[in-house]
Amino acid sequence: MKCEIIRDLLPNYLDGLTSQASNEAIEEHLETCAECRRCLDSMREELVLSEEKIKVRKKELRPFRKAHRAVWRAAAVTALVCVLLWAGYTYYFERTWTVDSEDVKVTWEKSGGVVTLSFQPDREGIYINAVRTSHNPDVVEVKARHVNPLGDKHHRNGYCGYTFVDEDTILDEGTGAPLQLTGEEVLTVKFEDKTEKIPVAALYDGTGLNFSPK
Ligand SMILES: [Zn+2]
Repeated sequence: MKCEIIRDLLPNYLDGLTSQASNEAIEEHLETCAECRRCLDSMREELVLSEEKIKVRKKELRPFRKAHRAVWRAAAVTALVCVLLWAGYTYYFERTWTVDSEDVKVTWEKSGGVVTLSFQPDREGIYINAVRTSHNPDVVEVKARHVNPLGDKHHRNGYCGYTFVDEDTILDEGTGAPLQLTGEEVLTVKFEDKTEKIPVAALYDGTGLNFSPK
């Protein structure tokens, strides 16, 4: 066989891709041809060298892969910290609690027939919300929440009101229908430290109330 054809086959021969018949022909030729043997030897050397190069490159890449992992870890930690901050933030600003009467100033105000009790925070950084937990009997829980500096800057007072038609008649909160007072109706105001019971009829002119008129 011609040297040229043998050399064309040598790369496949090295990779073990040639047929048995080709192998025999190649080996037979190599025994007699020093030129082609040299050619095969140099191909082998090149192959070994390139395999070593790949090994070296893999070794060089390893620190980069480690750096990659560190970046991912940092991203995961950042995400976790963000979630925790958000949860803490939400908890701090969304949490409500029943407030101490000391932290609230209650004022009575009447405009037309509408009587309004205002629960004004007597302390910085809190909102007051007068939460009506029931009507009949009327129960109001005085709750506080931290002022969120990023939230809306609406008023910080809580309110609770009655609409009087005359001194013996109020309008029902739900239906708006006139409701005759028997004199027994009581508004219960719950603070953390105490509960105040206010006769609804007394709210008409505000006399005898613990609260200062506005
Ligand atoms: Zn040859």
